[in-house]
Amino acid sequence: MENNDQKKKGIKSKTYYCPHCRKPVMKGDVKRLNMTCPSCHKLIDALGDELLNQEDV
Ligand SMILES: [Zn+2]
Repeated sequence: MENNDQKKKGIKSKTYYCPHCRKPVMKGDVKRLNMTCPSCHKLIDALGDELLNQEDV
């Protein structure tokens, strides 16, 4: 469980994860991600909410 993001008050910063390799690709707050993953170099084109950390698995 990682609570790092919640410690920054006033800054909406979420961590987005690649749907292909599940590595973190960027932090921020975006509605949609359209970029190439720096880890696996595959194209990511998805809604931001779909790429958030799934820590309740
Ligand atoms: Zn990737």
